[in-house]
Amino acid sequence: MTDIQIAQSVTPEHIKKIAAELSIPEDKLEYYGNDKAKIPLNIIDEAKLKKSNLILVTAITPTPAGEGKTTTCIGLGDALNYLKKKAVVVIREPSLGPVFGIKGGAAGGGRSQVIPMVDINLHFTGDFHAIEKANNLLSALIENNIQSKSRSLGIDPRTVIWKRCMDMNDRGLRNIVAALGGKAGGIPRETGFNITAASEIMAILCMASNLEDLKERCGNIYIGDTWEGKAVYAKDLNANGAMAVLLKDAIKPNLVQTLEGNPAIIHGGPFANIAQGTNSIIATKMGMTLCDYTVTEAGFGADLGAEKFMNIKCRAAGISPKTIVLVATIRALKYHGGKSLKEITQEDVEAVRKGLPNLERHISSLKSFGIPIVVSLNAFKTDTEAEMQVVADHCEKVGIPIALSYGWEKGGKGCTDLAEEVIKAANSCSDKFHPTYSLDDSVNTKIEKICQTIYGAEHVELSNIAISQLRKYESMGYGNLPICMAKTEKSFSDDEKRLGRPEHFDIHIREFEIATGAGFIIPIAGNILRMPGLPATPAAEKITIDENGIIEGLF
Ligand code: ADP
Ligand code: MG
Repeated sequence: MTDIQIAQSVTPEHIKKIAAELSIPEDKLEYYGNDKAKIPLNIIDEAKLKKSNLILVTAITPTPAGEGKTTTCIGLGDALNYLKKKAVVVIREPSLGPVFGIKGGAAGGGRSQVIPMVDINLHFTGDFHAIEKANNLLSALIENNIQSKSRSLGIDPRTVIWKRCMDMNDRGLRNIVAALGGKAGGIPRETGFNITAASEIMAILCMASNLEDLKERCGNIYIGDTWEGKAVYAKDLNANGAMAVLLKDAIKPNLVQTLEGNPAIIHGGPFANIAQGTNSIIATKMGMTLCDYTVTEAGFGADLGAEKFMNIKCRAAGISPKTIVLVATIRALKYHGGKSLKEITQEDVEAVRKGLPNLERHISSLKSFGIPIVVSLNAFKTDTEAEMQVVADHCEKVGIPIALSYGWEKGGKGCTDLAEEVIKAANSCSDKFHPTYSLDDSVNTKIEKICQTIYGAEHVELSNIAISQLRKYESMGYGNLPICMAKTEKSFSDDEKRLGRPEHFDIHIREFEIATGAGFIIPIAGNILRMPGLPATPAAEKITIDENGIIEGLF
């Protein structure tokens, strides 16, 4: 059965039943149909956060298909519930870009899925659309101010870095010329679109602690300079109030359920290569308020996702995970061991062995946080016992617990070994995570520490453009912000072809961007697209709906 067939074979419980199990009063829920509801922010209880077990699911360097972090999160959440623990899964909302592009849906897979899977993958409760509108309202206000004579802020149109956004992989919008059509059409200028998941508003929504903070962060967005070289912020355009109004519902986390009727909170979806790559702080705190175990995911491999999860999100939120689950797959290890994507379904013990340095490097990088690690080997039907044994032996050798996970095939029951290891590890965790860098370090030092401690790089090289941009941002007073690295997810290095465990490499920072509302500096290593394109054969071509409304092809 396909994922969508499995998802459609289960009738969701009414969402009020799921909420009742979490002791959320029924009158607090805002229903979106029978199977989705928003939860108000005043449910969050900061006093409860310390006692709760936050579990981070991350992964080794992934193949383009993904290695099963979301699937593992959901399977682990179900397994913890199966073991009678009070557990909730807290994950990101999928972006339509990957849904119609190469990867397909992002609501888990097989027997470990969140439902209603179709809604979650499509418009859900409209959060992405609201984010897009808030983003584009600011664009419209900028355009209007450039046009205005009487209320002009004197914005130099060539310096405007703020772009429009849309939740679609549309390469044609990446670079555009806007405001054509003569006098009434504005002042023509080069600009472009970001995909919504890569927009700063998405990052802001996921960093904000409440609506007031969200509004303030929107006001702090840096959009460009005046002709005199003075920085212009969204608040100078009086944009933040109206932007926050557009986001008043989007800021509330969404409650849904797993196939097994356990709670799942899905909220926010920033990409992990250009933004922080993890669901909203609000949703994580909501989960930690409501349950003893909150299982969450950080996008892409641990070098990007887990690093930002700790140094950006947990630091800002004042929370700390009790266990890190590192997802590995036999197929990804073979890929890192030199096999092509076509070959990784055939047994090859030697290739698995050759791929182990990737796993090993992730383990040693994660150890720097001082939080217990459990490896979860996400089992595929094509894996053989001999191949799995190689990984188990390796973990034993390096002293890291490992569990074989069958969440995709069996749901929660397939992840009980993992759940037991996680409970043990979480009980043994007595310390908060150790950040990779201090916010007081210089920007250069912060980047160096990330590249050396987490990627295993030797040096960091800044281009001349990067040096002058950094100088500018430091002089604007932003030197103490955390770092949000923009790097390929396909390699520890900035060269996506260097698989496995690259050694003796430098990281090259081409440019800097700054997200003054979200609150981070973004060093760009290599070519990172904020507006992806579709692949040669987009998933969209296989997706359809019949006269009865039954959808096919959405994974
Ligand atoms: P990630 O969150 O790491 O990107 P996902 O959990 O979304 O990965 O999984 C990526 C894809 O792989 C999904 O389509 C999912 O259904 C599939 N998948 C995950 N685990 C398995 C498995 N054990 N066997 C078969 N398919 C799997
Ligand atoms: Mg995922």
